[in-house]
Amino acid sequence: MILEIKELKYLEEQINLIVEIKLKKCKNCGRYFIPHNKQMYCDTCKTIPYDMRKNKNPIYEAYRKTYKTQYNKLKRYIDKGIVDKEELRERFKKWNEIAKNQKNTCKTVEEYNKWYKANLKWEK
Ligand SMILES: [Zn+2]
Repeated sequence: MILEIKELKYLEEQINLIVEIKLKKCKNCGRYFIPHNKQMYCDTCKTIPYDMRKNKNPIYEAYRKTYKTQYNKLKRYIDKGIVDKEELRERFKKWNEIAKNQKNTCKTVEEYNKWYKANLKWEK
């Protein structure tokens, strides 16, 4: 491939631009993009619902699953109408705060699940 001088100039400019800006690799599609703050996904993947993304974080997945289970439990208790709703909501909120923290600090799904199994009785 023979490049003209102006094409070379253009390429050089593009390369300089890439070097200047800290590019980030999208966690979903692997394309490079210019990140805003702590953005992890490119502008295209950002708009894809979480469930549809290919490379999901397994610990986040585990958290989401357990959150759903526990949230449904909370709803069941409230629907029964025999408990102090505010108290129960507070307990659930506290559990969720810790769960979110675990989600961010656990290194493996096993580690997260181990914590979960020992801490799923937040309502008691
Ligand atoms: Zn992407």
